[in-house]
Amino acid sequence: MIQIRGLCKEYNCCTTKALTNISFDVQQGQFVVLLGPSGAGKSTLLRCINGLVKATDGEIFIQGDRINDSRKLKDIHRRVGMVFQQFNLVKRLTVLENVLCGRLAYVSAWTSCLKLFSKQDVNIALHCLNRVGLVHKAYDRADQLSGGQQQRVGIARALAQCPSIILADEPVASLDPKSAEKVLTVLRTIKEQDHITVIVSLHNIELANHYAERIIGIKNGRMIVDKPVSAFTDDD
Ligand code: ADP
Ligand code: ADP
Repeated sequence: MIQIRGLCKEYNCCTTKALTNISFDVQQGQFVVLLGPSGAGKSTLLRCINGLVKATDGEIFIQGDRINDSRKLKDIHRRVGMVFQQFNLVKRLTVLENVLCGRLAYVSAWTSCLKLFSKQDVNIALHCLNRVGLVHKAYDRADQLSGGQQQRVGIARALAQCPSIILADEPVASLDPKSAEKVLTVLRTIKEQDHITVIVSLHNIELANHYAERIIGIKNGRMIVDKPVSAFTDDD
């Protein structure tokens, strides 16, 4: 599903080595946690996987397609949904309009001049909101929701792309413990019911142990551990 080979990323003309020689595979439908302290390279790795950041060296394949293959870029972006620490919703739009943004992956330039979203797009967006328990908030402004709810809207927006992978970059770092649990439970349910591959970065080992099937530990841009969660100990 995802293959990463010898991935390296340097910023600032080689002065910052954010990732060094990262290689691993992720199977379809796995729930993987990238665990590491702030500055370890987790965001950079996730951003390389969805093509937001260009690797300095190494290769990434999504379902066999090289991610920087320009002919397939749009389709690869469609297949990889992204969830952000600060939610990245458009605050002045409604919840439903934010989720519809996930459908933009299916809209071609010329249809957008005519009529942007079909009834089917709206139905898919409402269905995605239902999956995260927020269909009753569809017509509220996004910034009227709590942080935990906004993050679940972020997940619904990613789901609306019908992705095969969801990457979530510190999705609970700005949330209280109760909201954090809700968000991670939603991600786990999506993985179980839709067989979507989920990769979540966290810096909290208790949450990682509770939700992950597999933990990849990252420190100073290097992979220091890669284990199924049952084999993971505090010494790791
Ligand atoms: P994490 O997500 O684990 O906190 P990051 O991937 O954000 O780690 O950062 C890894 C390293 O790369 C850090 O040293 C950080 O300062 C550096 N870095 C991240 N993004 C940039 C950037 N756009 N320009 C320069 N350095 C960056
Ligand atoms: P959740 O159950 O998603 O974690 P909370 O328990 O944080 O949500 O929020 C409960 C209620 O309080 C929600 O209906 C939400 O709309 C409202 N609320 C919480 N924080 C805010 C906020 N910063 N602005 C507006 N409403 C908020």
